[in-house]
Amino acid sequence: MKTFYCYSFGCRVNQAEKEAVDREMQMAGYVVDVRRPDITIINTCAITHKAEREAKQLIYKLKRENPGGQILVTGCSATYWKKNKLLKDLPIDLVVDNINKEFLVKILQKRLSGRALHNLGGYASVGDKYLNSGRALIKIQDGCQRFCSYCIVPYLRGNPRSEIIQNLEFRIKNLGTNIKEVIFTAINTEAFGFDTGETLIQLIQQTLTDSTVSRISFGSIHPWSINDEFLRYYKKILPLKRLVNFFHVPIQSGSNKILNLMKRGYSTNDISLKLVKIRKLNPYALIATDVIVGFLDESDRDFQDTYDFLKKSPISKFHIFRFSNRDNTAAYYMKRNLKEPSVSIKIKRAKILAKLNKEKFEAFQRLNVGRSSQALFITNREGDYQESIIDNQLPVFVETKSDLNGQLRDIKILEYKNDKLFGKIIEKDG
Ligand code: SF4
Repeated sequence: MKTFYCYSFGCRVNQAEKEAVDREMQMAGYVVDVRRPDITIINTCAITHKAEREAKQLIYKLKRENPGGQILVTGCSATYWKKNKLLKDLPIDLVVDNINKEFLVKILQKRLSGRALHNLGGYASVGDKYLNSGRALIKIQDGCQRFCSYCIVPYLRGNPRSEIIQNLEFRIKNLGTNIKEVIFTAINTEAFGFDTGETLIQLIQQTLTDSTVSRISFGSIHPWSINDEFLRYYKKILPLKRLVNFFHVPIQSGSNKILNLMKRGYSTNDISLKLVKIRKLNPYALIATDVIVGFLDESDRDFQDTYDFLKKSPISKFHIFRFSNRDNTAAYYMKRNLKEPSVSIKIKRAKILAKLNKEKFEAFQRLNVGRSSQALFITNREGDYQESIIDNQLPVFVETKSDLNGQLRDIKILEYKNDKLFGKIIEKDG
């Protein structure tokens, strides 16, 4: 019996790909073993030097702990290593670049391990925090045409390619009744349907009509996808309460000068109008973002602009990244003329934004106290409380003796205490 284990770094698209590989490997007869698998698959990320370093550390660690096991690497760092002939010192047995990722299991069977036994007829969710709690990540699109100046992804994932809606609906229908929420993931939602003539709105609409899945959400919705048509549609479907009111809109900076250097193609004013409209349609929609500090030529004034923008905006949660200049991106060539802030300045700016994030997130959590919402229970338990995710992705701890993992319940949010929200199940009459 051949065993395997699969790791994933980075974004939710990588996580969705990992879930697909887990499924395909098991369908091909491989069995999950976290401790000493025959084959380890690592889906790498290249967005920062740190992400690349972490993948290398894992490779060395696994080789030390399980010298007899074989290691296959895929994903963005693996593609980068292969392209730039950086593989020779790494103790790996096979690399599958992004272009060939969809054939990973077939390539692995041919080149690495010989075939496993026949399909055992089942599929386990491999300790996956999403699947184990009734949520399935579905990749709807890959690649990107934007070439933002700091980003290496378009060079490693190629041009945009979308799944056709019919195939996605087939996958959703086959997920089984345990799945309560599908989370659509994309490298760039704007590019969804460029090649197929379909749209994001059609995808949501068809999922609402064709499937019985209770909740639909997006890992991220990119700034260019939020236009008047999308907002009108959001308003129309709000009463159905099936689209999770969570908008992770990566804006990257709140300074017009920096946005321009990043080649993002929008101004702070453009993005602000969109976010304010979302907030007006639904005051309880959670708006989150990614922001990069210490981009080339970011002065104290530019950073202050970002700070002021975030403070005023309806964004309640931000993920902060320190700029990491990746080889051969546009920013790599721009650095000849533009100064990069020092590491200590980047750390300082990241800390300032982290403090603002904490304040804004707390304010948003407190705003939700007193509300009722549908909640999806996930695996995490703390004493008598089980964690649940409400209709805008906020986590709420609910007192319950039973294990409600993967189940939906209506809850009331009662209080905010020690950085967390607490609530209770609303008992049905009769
Ligand atoms: S939109 Fe920009 S940041 Fe996002 S993947 Fe494309 S190039 Fe990278």
